Amino acid sequence: MDLSVIIPIYNEEANIGALYDRLCGVLDPMALPGGYELIFVNDGSRDQSLALIRLLVARDERVRYVDFSRNFGHQIAVTAGLDRARGAAAVIIDADLQDPPELIPALYRKLGEGYEVVYARRRSRQGESVAKKLTARLFYRLLVSITHISIPVDTGDFRVVSRKVVEALRQMPEQNKFIRGQISWIGYRQTYLEYDRAERAGGATGYTYRKMFRLALDGITAFSDVPLKVATVSGFVVSGLAFIVMIYTLYARFVSHDYQPGWASLMVSILFLGGVQLIAVGIIGEYISRLSANVRQRPLYIVSEEA
Ligand code: UDP
Ligand code: MG
Repeated sequence: MDLSVIIPIYNEEANIGALYDRLCGVLDPMALPGGYELIFVNDGSRDQSLALIRLLVARDERVRYVDFSRNFGHQIAVTAGLDRARGAAAVIIDADLQDPPELIPALYRKLGEGYEVVYARRRSRQGESVAKKLTARLFYRLLVSITHISIPVDTGDFRVVSRKVVEALRQMPEQNKFIRGQISWIGYRQTYLEYDRAERAGGATGYTYRKMFRLALDGITAFSDVPLKVATVSGFVVSGLAFIVMIYTLYARFVSHDYQPGWASLMVSILFLGGVQLIAVGIIGEYISRLSANVRQRPLYIVSEEA
């Protein structure tokens, strides 16, 4: 098997047919000697996606599928696909045709030049809200500035990875997946191609702002301790300020006898200290919640059926 194509599916009934046609249209002419497989991972879709996938499986023996017992999230769906990939290389691609299948041959050729990872970097993105583009831009830059591994900016999970990388990913059992970060962490020679990201072909995005925020926090907490350090540093800064204010207060009270009944300053310092403490506790909480998720050692996903 030369190539495994991993496709996470969440309510994509409008796109599965066109996706399959375009994938075959691109992969067949590549004439891979060992052939390829398409692995659909149904992540708890509530529409007709599963039925459509089953039809493809019945029609084409290169199509395999995994059906989750519920919605586990995009990153987990990709992981399930990677767990089952048999190819010497694997492609991760979105089902909504925002990642053009036509780019796969070029990505795959680059892999032949001695790279283990070839990711596709968005030169532009169409049909997405200003807010989404802006938050994504900010997030990737923030992530780069506070992690020590070089996670590429403006890059989703659309990429070709070699067998070595698939095996390495299988050894990373963490619960809060941020696959593009894990792949950067793994290392090896990596390169990229640029492309213009199209609009979603049909249906609606499965990534709510809530899910995006979770993914962003997973990425940051899995690859950076900087937020914890910021909490510590701001604690020191605030205590320093509080100490100065205390000296001043004592001086005003006992030496210069020039003081007001100090309601305002009291209020301000209590609110400020309270705020900083809550933020610090919150940051610690984010890490602890992930620690506890990993300690529980639950399986990442539950499979309902597969073939
Ligand atoms: N997806 C998934 N589980 C989810 C949300 C999304 O498997 O909970 C899949 C979805 O079917 C698509 C890919 O992940 O193949 C990217 O999702 P989407 O296009 O909704 O995200 P966006 O492009 O809007 O960021
Ligand atoms: Mg999309």
